[in-house]
Amino acid sequence: MKLSAFGQKFSADAGISSLMDDLGNAMASGDDMIMMGGGNPGNVPPVQALFQRELQRLANDEAAVKRLVGTYDPPQGEKQFIGALVELLNREYSWGLKPGNIGLTNGSQAAFFMLFNMFAGPRPAGDAGQPRHILLPLAPEYIGYSDAGLYEGTFRSVRPEIDFHGEHRFKYRVDFDQLQVTEETGAICVSRPTNPTGNVVTDGEMARLEALARQWDIPLIVDAAYGAPFPGLLYVDATAHWNENIIFCLSLSKLGLPAARTGIVIAAEPVIKALASVNAIMNLATGSFGAMLAEDMVRSGEILRLSRDVIGPFYRAKMERAVATFSAAMGEGYPWFVHEPEGAMFLWLWFPDLPITSEVLYQRLKMRGVLVVSGHYFFPGLPVDHWRHRQECLRVTYSQDDDQVAQGLHIIAEEVRRAYDGE
Ligand code: PLP
Repeated sequence: MKLSAFGQKFSADAGISSLMDDLGNAMASGDDMIMMGGGNPGNVPPVQALFQRELQRLANDEAAVKRLVGTYDPPQGEKQFIGALVELLNREYSWGLKPGNIGLTNGSQAAFFMLFNMFAGPRPAGDAGQPRHILLPLAPEYIGYSDAGLYEGTFRSVRPEIDFHGEHRFKYRVDFDQLQVTEETGAICVSRPTNPTGNVVTDGEMARLEALARQWDIPLIVDAAYGAPFPGLLYVDATAHWNENIIFCLSLSKLGLPAARTGIVIAAEPVIKALASVNAIMNLATGSFGAMLAEDMVRSGEILRLSRDVIGPFYRAKMERAVATFSAAMGEGYPWFVHEPEGAMFLWLWFPDLPITSEVLYQRLKMRGVLVVSGHYFFPGLPVDHWRHRQECLRVTYSQDDDQVAQGLHIIAEEVRRAYDGE
């Protein structure tokens, strides 16, 4: 097989594909693996029931079925859903959106692929200068970004500052002294809440990032796949903010519809136009399934109530149980930290000076039937250095069954203590 550079780069062993493979194989093997590795949403019964009812209603409506499966949507996405979103977001936040400010994609992952390559890489003819990059102001950051650039060097990121809170908690902060926007920066991008750490970049940090982006006339991409206004996996106060300089990305996945593959991009009209063109080339159209399934919830505002009153509290309770279980299981006498779990569905565990790498720890846990993700994957764009921290962290998902999560956390604590004891 004589692959192009593109073919080689995208078929090489990318972090995201090996992770998805590992998870998929473990799921399919039927073994009693405790799945604490992926980003799959949990089963929230009232939400599941609502989708089931809605699906039945659509199935019984001939015109709806035609829209659902028998029509190509325009490349910008399903018009009625976009209309309902515009109304909802304007009502909720007074953002002054028009339908031209929203585009839909087949999952937000696809949106990031398109956006990153729209703003990073070699410049067009007539624009002299070095290729542009996407600046990730804080690593650790989402593994799914790391291989999404067509060009080498698509991402640059910066080590965070670390604030310690009590004996076993910490929080990453953007290190603005190290953060360098240059002529070569095409956009700044941050996930909020962050996958993998559960960090929520503060309103103050967001304001500074936005000011930097504005100063350099580049967009600030905000990935709110877990955040506000939906699905609302947010356990601290954080303001959702949009203006024409911000590209705000949402997803229906963590609401409970990961298989419907629906990403939502809110941006200035020229950005949405450009995105829709790229989308037409890549996909012809975006699937309407997620849009149609969620349209009524958006029109009625039910999606906000569900996020605030059902989905957010569901994950917050899981997070609290997971933290309590892990704290009790680790006890005192060993160095361990949990990142402040401010959002999303992950605990980010840090074991300073662990005698084995997080990859070895991951392998040992897999042998014991617990699937987590080694933290070393989550530093896209950070130059290779000797920062040991990169090898000292694990991402643990707490979205699944509580008993299984508790069992998994006990095994993790046991293996970590063994490693510290030199076993
Ligand atoms: N952004 C973040 C931070 C994520 O964790 C994920 C998935 O896990 C995505 C984006 C992509 O989600 P989707 O393509 O399902 O919308």
